[in-house]
Amino acid sequence: MPIYEYICLKCGYLRELIIVPGLAYDKNIVCPNCGERMKKKVSPFAYKADRTAERERNIMKLATDYLKDGKVKDAARFLNMAKEYVKTDTIKRASDALNTKLSESQQKG
Ligand SMILES: [Zn+2]
Repeated sequence: MPIYEYICLKCGYLRELIIVPGLAYDKNIVCPNCGERMKKKVSPFAYKADRTAERERNIMKLATDYLKDGKVKDAARFLNMAKEYVKTDTIKRASDALNTKLSESQQKG
């Protein structure tokens, strides 16, 4: 589903929205800050390309934090969810690697 960024031309408030195609609210996004109608800022493609790297960084950082705490299971579960939302090779590989690591440690008992 495409994610759009909306900007309020009055106060500059930015809002990220997932738009379901064909639904009317696409045209009536209202600024939660001042009530003005918001304008779609960039195309979903440009936006997606722009933000995927940032999302990937955030996801990998969180996963690394889990691993630092020794929470391999939590990291694996988190990456399993994350890779459905942010489909990059890095996240997929990290997820696969953790799943392998987990199943190996389970086999050892
Ligand atoms: Zn506003």
